[in-house]
Amino acid sequence: MRSVKYAAILLILVFLAFISIFSIKIEGDYTAIIQNNNKQELNLILEMTNNSIANVSSKLWPPEKFYLVACESDWCYRLFSPFFDKENGEKGSTIFHKIIALNKKGLNEIIISHEITHVATKNLKCAKEPRNPIWLEEGLAVIVSGDDRFSFADFYSASQVLGIDIDYIKNNPNSWQEITLINPVVSYGAAEHYVRSILERSQEKNIGKAIVQYCKSQT
Ligand SMILES: [Zn+2]
Repeated sequence: MRSVKYAAILLILVFLAFISIFSIKIEGDYTAIIQNNNKQELNLILEMTNNSIANVSSKLWPPEKFYLVACESDWCYRLFSPFFDKENGEKGSTIFHKIIALNKKGLNEIIISHEITHVATKNLKCAKEPRNPIWLEEGLAVIVSGDDRFSFADFYSASQVLGIDIDYIKNNPNSWQEITLINPVVSYGAAEHYVRSILERSQEKNIGKAIVQYCKSQT
């Protein structure tokens, strides 16, 4: 527990140092800090991001401000995601629902709205356990961001190739943790599928409201 506290303090210090070095900021619903100087490009991407997250209810939207750090270089991104491995496809990460860090590949509206969705679930209580199910967080982020890399067809065929019992996954949402390390197409595709089935069962058309209703039934 103590090491978590030290890690948190260290992270805050690194973050404060980072802000003072890279002072290019765009103030809005959130503060964006960019390592490169291409403010115009980022502005355009943020505008598109706002469009894709518009269909998430304000009920999910956090009232607190958050930071979005767009990194140009790997060392900058590693300050926020120390175990970043270029090969594993990671494009961004969200820390304590407060800081979104993006690497060079993550500077697009899909990844930004994915991470913003994680920020937006800060106050969403969707399980008796302290943490919400990962499949819910990730599935929601995939849907809100309009990320079409993980189609159900791909999920289905990858599951068959890998010999994963699809009915077991469908009936046991928490088995997502078991498959997450196998293959991102399968794990994110499964997460998206679970959340889509919640949305299909709901009378509510707004994604955010439908999820809030579902979560009420789970706690
Ligand atoms: Zn995610």
